[in-house]
Amino acid sequence: MTEQMWGGEPWWGVGEEWNPDWFLTDRQKELRATLIELCEQEMRANAKRSDDELLYPRRNLELLGEHGFLGLTVPEEYGGLGENHVAYSMVCETIARYGCASTAMCYVMHIGGVNAIMLRPTDELVERYIRPLRDGKIGTLSYSDPETGSHFWYPISSGAERVNGGFKVRKKASWTTSAGFADFYVVQTTSPDFSGYDDLSVFVIDGEDVEAQPALWDALGLRGNQSGPLEVPDVEIPESQIVGPVGDGAASNDESVDPWFLIGSSSVWNGIALGALDIAKRHTTRKRHVDVGLRVADYPTIQDYVGEAVIDTNACRVFVLSVANAMDKATDDNTKLLKPGEFARADFLHWAWQIKFAAAKNVAHVVDKMLHACGGSGYKRDMELERYLRDAKAGWVMGPTNEVLRQFVGKAVLLGFDVLDYWNQTFNRRAVENEVKKLDAKGKRELAEQLISQADEQEAKQAQPAAS
Ligand SMILES: Cc1cc2nc3c(=O)[nH]c(=O)nc-3n(C[C@H](O)[C@H](O)[C@H](O)COP(=O)(O)OP(=O)(O)OC[C@H]3O[C@@H](n4cnc5c(N)ncnc54)[C@H](O)[C@@H]3O)c2cc1C
Repeated sequence: MTEQMWGGEPWWGVGEEWNPDWFLTDRQKELRATLIELCEQEMRANAKRSDDELLYPRRNLELLGEHGFLGLTVPEEYGGLGENHVAYSMVCETIARYGCASTAMCYVMHIGGVNAIMLRPTDELVERYIRPLRDGKIGTLSYSDPETGSHFWYPISSGAERVNGGFKVRKKASWTTSAGFADFYVVQTTSPDFSGYDDLSVFVIDGEDVEAQPALWDALGLRGNQSGPLEVPDVEIPESQIVGPVGDGAASNDESVDPWFLIGSSSVWNGIALGALDIAKRHTTRKRHVDVGLRVADYPTIQDYVGEAVIDTNACRVFVLSVANAMDKATDDNTKLLKPGEFARADFLHWAWQIKFAAAKNVAHVVDKMLHACGGSGYKRDMELERYLRDAKAGWVMGPTNEVLRQFVGKAVLLGFDVLDYWNQTFNRRAVENEVKKLDAKGKRELAEQLISQADEQEAKQAQPAAS
């Protein structure tokens, strides 16, 4: 095995023998080597500037574009690298580990936007948004809503209507990575013929049509990812900028947006955990205590910290790669074109929830332990560990948050998938009957009167269109 290098010096972090490389093809290993070189030469230094100055990592994304990574999962016939889910995991992990976590998160959202389009590619969409990826065009996903917080699948402050053969789209997003910097935004709104919150549609909006407020972005970590608020203010777009049929939003979420986001973001959290381990190895093997003649790495306590962190992080990496691999198998290595109503990745969505939970939980713990291993020196900014620590803390709170995910899993295991009720449509009779039991006769009568008046109003509303 040739010695892994970091520029002119031997690699100082966790050795490559700890990588689960049996998942990767030779080409994917070459792509990783290219990425590590880019990180060493420029991307890691840019990470510090992005963090210090709240700077969007444009140069890092340009570098990724120059080497084809912005079109990683796009078929070669459209100018992409034609790669699969495993490659995507490797790329996100590598950028976050060796380079810049903010860049890695912008990249996750970019590939999320690209793949939302590629779920339902049309000639117009491919020409306008996919082929130009070779020239550095950057996209993102804008889903979250100020009214519904981490229930980002519930876009209350949004809508679309049919006008002039196209659509008029309005959207308010509380958080959008790359807001104000991306060239195109894949957004989800309620459908033009809105019939309930599971009736959603997907549109692409050009950068010049959105209103972003990058000045409002200032956060603990991932400071370069510029996830500020965004508005699409009643923008008219041609019919060609809807992605998939009207009402395709829920299917697009299950088949594309969620699977790609969960694989990518889990890989970013794993990359940050590895990056923190790398720094801890460098520091603890170099620092000596002259009184006892030992390096910090010689203390069994420190070895225990590192051993446990490598074992837990590798469990998360193998978990992510295994789910990515399952999606590769289901999609013939990301080459299957699925028609509306056909699903492949969606069959593994409940596995994708689990990998994000595990990776985000792990990284939050690992960065704390690596700080403990490095002592006070790790608390200072020059070692970079504190940036990895701050970046890591985004994992747990980023939607779907870990609270939401563990509840999805627990609820689905115990009560079945139907009970998840994403769009608040299923009546929970048990809960209502239990609450009603607590009322006295007067309270019951008051509630009954209120319900009857609401039912009258609802029936009158429903009757209106028929009468007019
Ligand atoms: C760095 C970063 C980048 C982001 N980038 C994007 C982006 O590019 N695009 C995008 O659309 N969004 C993005 N987001 C937003 C993200 O997806 C979430 O919407 C956001 O983090 C939720 O924050 P909130 O303050 O609204 O949380 P809230 O929803 O108010 O949650 C507060 C607490 O309540 C808990 N909670 C909420 N619902 C439930 C429930 N049903 N059961 C149990 N507990 C619950 C939460 O887990 C949390 O602990 C980003 C977030 C971060 C941190």
